[in-house]
Amino acid sequence: MGNTFWVSERRSGEYVKMSNGLTNVFISTFGLAATRLAGTDGERRITYWVLEHDQSARGIGTVGFTLAEAPFDPASFDTGREFLLRATAAIMDRSGWETLNYAPNVDILGRAVEEFTGLVQRVTPMDLDTAAMREWLAASGPDEPQFHGFPTCPQHRVFLTDFGCHPCNDGQWSRDTS
Ligand SMILES: [Zn+2]
Repeated sequence: MGNTFWVSERRSGEYVKMSNGLTNVFISTFGLAATRLAGTDGERRITYWVLEHDQSARGIGTVGFTLAEAPFDPASFDTGREFLLRATAAIMDRSGWETLNYAPNVDILGRAVEEFTGLVQRVTPMDLDTAAMREWLAASGPDEPQFHGFPTCPQHRVFLTDFGCHPCNDGQWSRDTS
C-alpha cells in the first residue's frame, strides 16, 4: 500500500513510493516550504495542486501523482521546475515546522525528499501532459480558493485547497488513526 509518484505516464519505471503516513508528512512539509517560497501565481498553483493530494479528503493510499500532470506553464517550464526543486529542498531546512504539532522524522523524510528531488530533476518539457492540466483547471470549481487570492491557514500559513488546510487535516487524520 502507500502512494506512488511518477515522472510521467510513459516513463512508468521511474517512480517513488511512500507509505500513507509518510505521504501526509511529505505533502504537509512541502506545503509549508512551498507556500512560504511561492512568489507568482504559477508557483502558487503548482503548490496548490500538490496540496490537493490530501488523503483525509480523497482516501488513504489514493493520492499518488504524476509530475508531468502538474500545472507547469509550458512557456516557463524551467522556472516552474526550479521552484519545485527549491521548495522540496526547503523541506529539509524545516521551513514552517514550528507550526506543526509533531516532529517529522528527519531520516525517513530526508530519504523521501531525496528520491522525490530525483523525480523532479527528471521531468522534461517533453513529458508535460497539457491535456491533464487543462482538465484539472476545467474541473476546478469557481469557488475554489485558488481563484480567490490563494488564502492560507492562519496556523500553518499553507495554501487552503477546496479540502482545507493539509497540515490541519493531517493532524486530524493522525489523531484518528493512531
Ligand atoms: Zn492549518
